[in-house]
Amino acid sequence: MKFHDLSIQEMRQKLLAGELTSIELTQQCLQRIKATDSQLNAFITVCEEEALAAAAVADQQLATGSAPLLTGIPIAVKDIFNTLDVRTTCGSKILDNYISPYDATAVAKLREQGAVIVGKLNMDEFAMGSSSENSAAGVVHNPWDLERVPGGSSGGSAAAVASGQVVATLGTDTGGSVRQPASHCGVVGLKPTYGRVSRYGVIAYASSLDQVGPVAGNVADCALMLGVVAGYDPADSTSVDCPVPDYLENLNAGVAGKKIGLPKEYFIDGLDPDIKKAVDAAIETYQQLGAEVVSVTLPHTDYSVACYYLIAMAEASSNLARYDGVRFGLRQDSGDGLIGMYQQTRSAGFGDEVKRRIMLGTYALSSGYYEAYYLKAQKVRTLIRQDFHDVFSQVDFLLTPVAPTPAFKIGEKVNDPLQMYLSDIFTIPTNLAGTCAMSLPCGFSKNELPIGLQLIGKPFAEAEILQAAYAFEQATDWNKRVPEL
Ligand code: GLN
Repeated sequence: MKFHDLSIQEMRQKLLAGELTSIELTQQCLQRIKATDSQLNAFITVCEEEALAAAAVADQQLATGSAPLLTGIPIAVKDIFNTLDVRTTCGSKILDNYISPYDATAVAKLREQGAVIVGKLNMDEFAMGSSSENSAAGVVHNPWDLERVPGGSSGGSAAAVASGQVVATLGTDTGGSVRQPASHCGVVGLKPTYGRVSRYGVIAYASSLDQVGPVAGNVADCALMLGVVAGYDPADSTSVDCPVPDYLENLNAGVAGKKIGLPKEYFIDGLDPDIKKAVDAAIETYQQLGAEVVSVTLPHTDYSVACYYLIAMAEASSNLARYDGVRFGLRQDSGDGLIGMYQQTRSAGFGDEVKRRIMLGTYALSSGYYEAYYLKAQKVRTLIRQDFHDVFSQVDFLLTPVAPTPAFKIGEKVNDPLQMYLSDIFTIPTNLAGTCAMSLPCGFSKNELPIGLQLIGKPFAEAEILQAAYAFEQATDWNKRVPEL
């Protein structure tokens, strides 16, 4: 039995029927990681001992017959989630030796449902990047082509699912970090509405944009994972107190009679022809399934990348001020006083991209520039938000590409930050607007690289885009292909 042939629900059935134990499943998972991770580098930390101990507990619980949803199922999380007793590096040298005294709420919720946490996944340092090349733990490789990036910043989370190392993972999405790697690796990833999932214990990058999201091999597993982590948390004042629906319940509701908007700003000339072809075919599939497709406009889309990078860097510069060599992680001190210690610690601890963003963000927030840059970006953000509000009075959800090209080569864009930032053009607007969106496989390029389709929903309409995604998944078989490793 190959580990990646089973969905979460199939694993659960086998565990409950006693055909498989959690120890066996966890061992298989650990073996698969051992066999493939020298090629992929998807994991920063594998916690074998802790995982096997949790699996033993799960087996006892399964024997009683009353086991919660994820009991005994191996899951991994991006190394941005605080985990009790297992180090959390956030892909940074500055947190190399950091062990959190508590679990992030999303991790606690996985554990409450019995999940076996097998490890912490590689990522761009502090989630800053679109390629998973900016990690102190080294570059992550795309399982479909090891010379290519898996996308970022949750590249490890997507590569681990695509390669069958684990059945599902958690990532975070500030400007596309769940959806773009899901697209590049041929798996399903969802960014929930801002406030849907607690950010407590998730290391902050840009707090007004950050959101936790699941990555899985199919839509139902993604829906199940979302249901586990979603919900109000008094420890996160931005989490929203509205009921969490059962995302699995009406998954097969279909799309007949639904109105799908195609924002014309997302179907631009520079779009890769293979992507255009795959997305056009997806539009046709939706029409065959009974949906109506109309052209719509999100007129401020062009300003999204500039607006996002200003706001994200400004918030990052403020959030990252806490890494000062006193409270967390690395400290370098050659005895030049407090300022000297700060300088040495931060110079040694942060990578180039993080430093670039701290400097740009500090500049945008400094007196004299605040109004011209940060405040202006906030005003533009309101206009972008309004675009989505207007369009959602006309259609049920939007359909777009996830990224303008399939996965690019490692090294191709790393020295050209502007090109790298531009690759987020289709994912960033939804973070600025705060609404939900997901990526699901919709085809392959000529050179066998996965292509993702983005569905963007109204705020808190995760159930609706999951239903639409499920209808597409049932009508096609793009998610059945697996990379050879
Ligand atoms: N690529 C974007 C950035 O670098 C998005 C990253 C993310 O969503 N965490 O900011």
